[in-house]
Amino acid sequence: MSKRSGKAGTGSKLVSGGRRKEWTGAVVNPPIWRGSTHLYEDSTDLASSRENRDGQFYYGRRGAPTQWALSEALTELEPGAEGTLLYPSGVAAIAGAMLAVLKAGDVLLVTDNAYQPSRAMADGLLKRIGIETRYFDPLDLDAFPGKFCERTRAVLLESPGSLTMEICDVPALTAIAREKGAVSMIDNTWASPIGFAALERGCDIAIMSLTKHVGGHSDLMMGSVSAREDLYRKLRQTSQALGQIVSPDDAALALRGLRTLQLRLQRESDSALQLAHWLSERPEVARVLCPMLPDDSGHELWKRDFTGGCGLFSFVFKGADKAARARFIDALEMFGIGYSWGGFESLAIPVDPAGARSETPWPPTTMDPADKLAIRLSIGLEDISDLKADLQAGFAAMEQ
Ligand SMILES: *Cc1c(COP(=O)(O)O)cnc(C)c1O
Repeated sequence: MSKRSGKAGTGSKLVSGGRRKEWTGAVVNPPIWRGSTHLYEDSTDLASSRENRDGQFYYGRRGAPTQWALSEALTELEPGAEGTLLYPSGVAAIAGAMLAVLKAGDVLLVTDNAYQPSRAMADGLLKRIGIETRYFDPLDLDAFPGKFCERTRAVLLESPGSLTMEICDVPALTAIAREKGAVSMIDNTWASPIGFAALERGCDIAIMSLTKHVGGHSDLMMGSVSAREDLYRKLRQTSQALGQIVSPDDAALALRGLRTLQLRLQRESDSALQLAHWLSERPEVARVLCPMLPDDSGHELWKRDFTGGCGLFSFVFKGADKAARARFIDALEMFGIGYSWGGFESLAIPVDPAGARSETPWPPTTMDPADKLAIRLSIGLEDISDLKADLQAGFAAMEQ
């Protein structure tokens, strides 16, 4: 990092991140360093490699400049972070964080609107190794302190929540967790550090699926975890013990995606907000779940704590049945049907949050129980008029 870039703005950090001269040589991007074996100059050089420092050649499993460049660029984006670890997927990053801070006998608190595979990990793998999970309503601040017990060691947050997009009060929840002696982790995939400075807002560990916005082109799987110094050491130890490494080719792709991250997020959130407005006025729609919308119940907190959004939001049909929802989806031509999100191309997927909740009702008590079928949209870089026409065709198909 140059002397000036420490204070640089986000766009400048995205451009310069990880581009150390010793890593790039004469070209702009850090080249792809493929290699398992790193060769040493002599036995003294070999002996000095035992220190296990970041950014030091050792063996392929500890990475090479391509991976180090990506880690460094991500760390620069996360104020308060000592370092960033890379994992072969977002789920692997979540597992890496959990296993670094929890041990048998500990209790983990997980937000009720967590990404479904996070719940599956808590109820499966973590349970099997003696870690107990309790779920909590992320919007009920008053009840939150009562969820802790002597053995509670960590809290997993996600804001907005997966599928249903509730914004929780991260500074308040993390302050309570700290008071109780628990580590706060957040799955920050939706906003990325561009839209939500997780560590500055009270979290100790920020997790991201780089598969989504950072990759941005639907052609790679990766995850990251950034943390303050003490926790970073623990995470690094655990990651090395588990043998986690990403390929240099994928790291180079993620770095390429990172350069345009801010531009893509801006364009995608602008389009998403316009479409969310438009959808909220459709007679077929009961509710749009998008914290960027001024009348969304999470909007005030979003405005207070976030510096940006993205193209991902959901909407709930007014009393539609599954067959009508399927006709809507099948009529879409511009939107792809598929999992994941955050790519340059728009996607739509039917979602049924009820199956992934245990502490909070779906639909919420403020909604008609008949209004429960939802669709999640990931808005890409297409022209908004085309996306709107596609959604319009979907609504027309429902009427048959
Ligand atoms: C997709 C996703 C993940 C998992 O990422 P993968 O790279 O697909 O393993 C984690 N959290 C959230 C919120 C996600 O949407």
